[in-house]
Amino acid sequence: MSIVLGGIAHEVEGLRSVSYLDDPKIAPRITDSDARKRRVRSVIVHTTSGTCRAGKVKPGRLATDDRAGVLARYQTRTARRVSWDYTVGRDGVVIAQNDPVERYSWHATAWNPISVGIELVQDADGTLYEEQLGALVLLVDELTRRLRIQRQLAWVGDAPVLSQLARADEKGAKGVDMVGVFAHVHNTLSRGAGDPGPAPFRALRAAGYEGFDFAAGADRSTWRERQRALGIAADGIALDDTCAALERSGRACGLWVPRPGDAP
Ligand SMILES: [Zn+2]
Repeated sequence: MSIVLGGIAHEVEGLRSVSYLDDPKIAPRITDSDARKRRVRSVIVHTTSGTCRAGKVKPGRLATDDRAGVLARYQTRTARRVSWDYTVGRDGVVIAQNDPVERYSWHATAWNPISVGIELVQDADGTLYEEQLGALVLLVDELTRRLRIQRQLAWVGDAPVLSQLARADEKGAKGVDMVGVFAHVHNTLSRGAGDPGPAPFRALRAAGYEGFDFAAGADRSTWRERQRALGIAADGIALDDTCAALERSGRACGLWVPRPGDAP
């Protein structure tokens, strides 16, 4: 029961997952992908219907979620040029079909080379489940820990931002200065607020992920201050130099926000 990073199967404590190394029938490796050449700086969350309609979150989980398996197989068979890394079922099980260290999937156009894509399976009316969101948090904790992505979200006031961000686009001219966990809708006008809706970001925020007004550049101004305090170049983009300095200063995994499971 693993996810695969850099060719190594990682067990994630508390997370039920199936990778192609565990069972290639349940989690066949994706067929649409390219070699990863650039540093991963974002996790992008999607919903399978692209809308959350009522946007409900039900307690608990489904006992099993056949639709997750159907979608996982679909992405390896369809002639459409589409793929993603992880499918999080309504039963709270993650199907892991790519090694995002070695290859990138095709889920968010120009952001693909610098991101990892997660699909949340929904009921027909867009409903998600609390334990499914719990699994998402554990998965994003692990990805941010292993890929060294700062735990931050686009957030204003008491709500996540669910529209395109002016700093992102589909063409790839923008977005490289953005680090964190984002919505598909953040980089495209072709998706709505329901891709993936507020619930995934509320779950991550409740887990301690920081919220920044990205449109106002609050992430970059905050990181410039932190970088100055660390004595490193202050560009406001928290990538490898910043992670290394944070680690030297005692922050586990080079991340500002700690989560259970981070190594000291
Ligand atoms: Zn999407």
